[in-house]
Amino acid sequence: MQNTTAESSVEQVDVAIIGAGPAGAAAAAWLARAGLRVRVLEQSQFPRFSIGESLLPQCMHYLDACGLLAAAEAGGFQYKDGAAFCWRDQTAAIQFTEKFSPGPGTTWQVPRADFDQRLIQGAQALGADVLFGCKVTDFTPDALHPQIRLVTAEGEEQQLQARFVLDASGYGRVLARLTGLACESVLESRCALFMHVEDRIDTADYDRNKILIGIHPQLPGVWYWLIPFSDGRASVGVVGDRATLEQAGLDDAERLWAMLRQEPRYAELLKNAVQVRDTGRLEGYSAAVKQLHGPGFALLGNAGEFLDPVFSSGVTIALHSGWLAAPLVQRQLQGETVDWQTAFEQPLRAGVDTFREFVLAWYDGRLPRIIFNERQPERIRSMISAVLAGYAWDASNPLVAASRRRLDVLAQSSIESPFDLTQAPA
Ligand code: FAD
Repeated sequence: MQNTTAESSVEQVDVAIIGAGPAGAAAAAWLARAGLRVRVLEQSQFPRFSIGESLLPQCMHYLDACGLLAAAEAGGFQYKDGAAFCWRDQTAAIQFTEKFSPGPGTTWQVPRADFDQRLIQGAQALGADVLFGCKVTDFTPDALHPQIRLVTAEGEEQQLQARFVLDASGYGRVLARLTGLACESVLESRCALFMHVEDRIDTADYDRNKILIGIHPQLPGVWYWLIPFSDGRASVGVVGDRATLEQAGLDDAERLWAMLRQEPRYAELLKNAVQVRDTGRLEGYSAAVKQLHGPGFALLGNAGEFLDPVFSSGVTIALHSGWLAAPLVQRQLQGETVDWQTAFEQPLRAGVDTFREFVLAWYDGRLPRIIFNERQPERIRSMISAVLAGYAWDASNPLVAASRRRLDVLAQSSIESPFDLTQAPA
């Protein structure tokens, strides 16, 4: 797999990929299957925990296209066919199979330690070379020979020269930081507290095939997730501004449980739950970059932009970016000129922009108002369902083509909705 030149002892590969999460695994699998020498550099040892456990059906297409669907399927993950919402005594459900866009209508809810390991093992089986415990520390951009500096699991400093580098380092945002591309997100800084529980849910009307998203009855800026897995465990979390969450208890575990007890549906569902993983906290996770590519490199998944967890778009965007970038890298290495702005950045951002509009409409109350409107025409429901199922790049969906304007109109026309815009945070 590896080459060294006579004049230099720097190891050489075709494509170096930083990070072995979903974005890195998807790109590695595609490129290795195409016969390129791919080296993935991953700082942790797998399996490793990651947040982001609810997938969207659009993911299945990318997994398939990258040759990873069978590897993921073997995990026996919890089937998922939609999203349920609750607020006070109101409930609503979005059924992904009844969506506007063509494509898969179901997916999974996955413990990411297992899911991510299966994906990267799938990439290895297709020929990708993966180094775990190996941290990328420096980078020299170059259109033909970008170079990486890394520290191996044994503490040894090494250099690696590639013909192209893909940064899939997630929250590490390695190249965005090292190349000065990182910038502020337009989204507010929020805080998430989360854990895994053995859920012991015995409520008859509870649908394990859907993520449950709840809105705090008095604090509309605070929302919850409940993502059941196939083994009787579930991921549970709360998102809000830091001050609100911190006043709820003395430590994060106490705060999370206290916030859960304030939402009647969650309090009821989780009354017998037993915590099986320490409470985690992530904050200020929304991040952006000025550009998603540079000389000899491109940014994938969270290493580029991360929006917000509310619609579970993170893994879908990560897989989409790997699936989109990989064939472009192959073409470039075959000698073609690739315009990364028009072939990668613009099309990737189109879907991210759609999700961003939905996230903004969630927090200012327009989207809850639309979702809790029982009289929403079926066709509108199917358009919303398509975006929430991850089909945010399908411009034939009017809610994708003109998201902001149409969300405005729908919110205004949802006069029957019990969710009043005045209840949304300022
Ligand atoms: P990651 O999965 O983060 O992988 C990046 C990898 O790079 C890691 O393994 C890391 O160890 C490695 N790395 C980092 N730095 C270096 C370095 N210097 N050298 C070598 N390796 C490095 N998304 C969903 O789809 N569904 C959800 O339900 C969901 N819930 C979320 C809830 C919260 C509270 C948050 C904050 C996010 C959530 N997300 C969700 C988003 C999701 O976590 C990410 O979008 C997704 O994991 C991104 O995948 P990735 O491949 O880009 O990066």
